[in-house]
Amino acid sequence: MTDLDAFRAETRAWLEANCPAEMREPMREESDACWGGRNAVFKSVAQKAWMDAMAARGWTVPDWPTAYGGGGLSPAETKILKQEMARIGARNPLMSFGISMLGPALLKYGSEEQKTLYLTQIARGEIRWCQGYSEPGAGSDLASLQTRCEDKGDHWLVNGQKVWTSYADKADWIFCLVRTDPAAPKHKGISFLLFDMASPGVSTRPILLISGNSPFCETFFDDVEVPKDQLVGTLNKGWDVAKYLLGHEREMISGMGLGGQGESLGAALADVLADDPVLRADIARFDVDAMAFRAMSERFIDELKAGQAHSAQPSMMKYAGTELNKARHELVMAAGGSNALEWDSDRSRKGKSAREWLRTKANSIEGGTSEVQLGIVAKRILELPGA
Ligand SMILES: Cc1cc2nc3c(=O)[nH]c(=O)nc-3n(C[C@H](O)[C@H](O)[C@H](O)COP(=O)(O)OP(=O)(O)OC[C@H]3O[C@@H](n4cnc5c(N)ncnc54)[C@H](O)[C@@H]3O)c2cc1C
Repeated sequence: MTDLDAFRAETRAWLEANCPAEMREPMREESDACWGGRNAVFKSVAQKAWMDAMAARGWTVPDWPTAYGGGGLSPAETKILKQEMARIGARNPLMSFGISMLGPALLKYGSEEQKTLYLTQIARGEIRWCQGYSEPGAGSDLASLQTRCEDKGDHWLVNGQKVWTSYADKADWIFCLVRTDPAAPKHKGISFLLFDMASPGVSTRPILLISGNSPFCETFFDDVEVPKDQLVGTLNKGWDVAKYLLGHEREMISGMGLGGQGESLGAALADVLADDPVLRADIARFDVDAMAFRAMSERFIDELKAGQAHSAQPSMMKYAGTELNKARHELVMAAGGSNALEWDSDRSRKGKSAREWLRTKANSIEGGTSEVQLGIVAKRILELPGA
């Protein structure tokens, strides 16, 4: 038995013993996801037990160093853990912008003190983070952001407004882009700041979506005082941190809806497809594309871990993954017929398909639009100026 075989056997046995049966069921609704945080709400005893067991082993972030609350696993071991979790349908124990976005940026740019403090809290699900990038005048052109941050000697003073801040009203802390040098060229006067959403002067106002939910907010900062040691990386060089984090955000978004258990759409819709050959062909075509996308994702992740990734890859994945996810939900709606459009009936499970379909419309906007991703891919592949 090789070391990896032994690791697989041990992992399988541990998961069998520690993953509650309820946590092996597919997630059906928002509350099935565990987000942790200071005011964490657990849907069940099993959900909390599963998060705690995985966090105690460092497996909420299996490939982070053990010194920061991670599992210290190699890329090959991390892959085995994911395969073994998928084998029993184990849910992700902790959803977190800390894990998928801020953590990788802190590992690269954070000070030792910041890594020890924040990464450990993220790994244990103690702090829920939100992302303060977009502003009313800065979306695709993010570097135009205007939120001001002044050096007041013993603290930073932040004033301005963010928008589309997902879960800002539920988050404990924010990772935020601020302008620290208004006189510098726009990409050069930006810094990357962390602060507590409970600080005096921070307020949020939820924005309603067509899906009926309100997952994101306008976020206002009025004379918010932030301790000096909460700036990440070098003053006025926050754009480097921001771009690095965006690469990880795009990878995360690219996998949404498709990366998971790998169930074929044809299998999921088998009972409604019998007599529609055109729809069957469309779904078969989708399943082949989804399979190719999963294989491509796996290759990209291996290349990334080996330090061989092309700088255009996160944008390619983001573009392909989100367009595919939208196509998937178009097909689910087509298969559901007019029943799927019902908003409140039991027959449509309270409009579940329609709400999910509408939500996917945002996939090719959040984290940078499809048009912007295509622009980045073109620039980086062709090595054009500004790439
Ligand atoms: C569900 C969701 C969650 C989000 N969560 C967050 C969050 O937590 N934190 C956060 O900071 N932001 C968040 N955002 C904001 C998101 O990052 C922005 O919506 C996105 O970057 C686009 O910016 P914009 O909405 O201002 O559109 P604009 O930049 O105004 O774009 C409008 C249109 O112009 C096109 N366009 C713009 N520039 C170019 C170009 N150079 N080339 C070609 N076409 C172009 C775009 O593709 C788009 O079609 C979220 C957005 C969504 C939808």
